[in-house]
Amino acid sequence: MAASKCTQLTAALSRQLLDSIDCVLFDCDGVIWRGDQAIPGAPEVISSLKKNGKRVFFVTNNSTKTRQMYADKLGKLGFDATADEVFGTVYCSAVYLKNVCKLDGKVYLIGSNAMRQELEDVGIRPVGVGPDPVSGVQKDWANVPLDKEVQAVLVSFDEHFSYMKLNRALQYLCNPDCQFVGTNTDTRLPLEGGKAVPGTGCLLRAVETAAQRQAQVVGKPSNFMFECVASQLGLDLERCLMVGDRLDTDIMLGSNCGLKTLLTLTGVSTVAEAEANQKSECPHQQKMKEVRRVL
Ligand code: PLP
Ligand code: CA
Repeated sequence: MAASKCTQLTAALSRQLLDSIDCVLFDCDGVIWRGDQAIPGAPEVISSLKKNGKRVFFVTNNSTKTRQMYADKLGKLGFDATADEVFGTVYCSAVYLKNVCKLDGKVYLIGSNAMRQELEDVGIRPVGVGPDPVSGVQKDWANVPLDKEVQAVLVSFDEHFSYMKLNRALQYLCNPDCQFVGTNTDTRLPLEGGKAVPGTGCLLRAVETAAQRQAQVVGKPSNFMFECVASQLGLDLERCLMVGDRLDTDIMLGSNCGLKTLLTLTGVSTVAEAEANQKSECPHQQKMKEVRRVL
């Protein structure tokens, strides 16, 4: 494992860092907001970066909102941001299914109305949103009625996730030609006071386990999330900074794509975890070339 370097960010280093970048990618939850509240100082940091000519993007694994819904939320919380600066798993999954999977049939969607809307906006026809219609009615589960035009299964955050949805996804995925995509693998969504709720990673693992197949994952730490930003905007990755609160998603994405990375201590990962990660020889853990932390 190559030696990795974790440096605490000082005033002098911040100036050096700012001079070496043109573009900053911000994770959202735990970095610029927590739930429905802006992290103090975050709107001012973003305005100041923009005033100094930096391009700013918002990169989130949360699959419950469209780009426009995020732009509205950002505006309400005092951020200077537009919808085309937001790259969430909802938008990026729609781009992935259209441009990478070249999907021309329907997609069986385990997900929200926001995801349905964003898929429809790129011309993809989703089925399955909302509670499953045969839950509790039909008992012949292996012969549940399927839509013959479905060519992919997409798993994202779904408050109506159920045994029947899991079963239906399995029935579609028994066809080896049916593509299998997941938005993200975050298993827990941390809340205030040490509480947590299950994340999309739990739903995705359930479907992967049932189908005995692995999904292609679009969200952080998959490179696709950054490629989605870079391909549309022609960014120089050497001059991009990824700012995040999680080592296993945000910092790993930056590291995988050769970006500079900055770990804030406002969310999930701690300094101790960053240090342990660097010392670890564990092959599945990514080499972190550089993790700078905010004081
Ligand atoms: N997925 C869901 C459903 C969420 O609610 C959240 C955070 O609120 C996330 C993922 C993680 O989002 P982010 O990548 O912005 O930290
Ligand atoms: Ca986060």
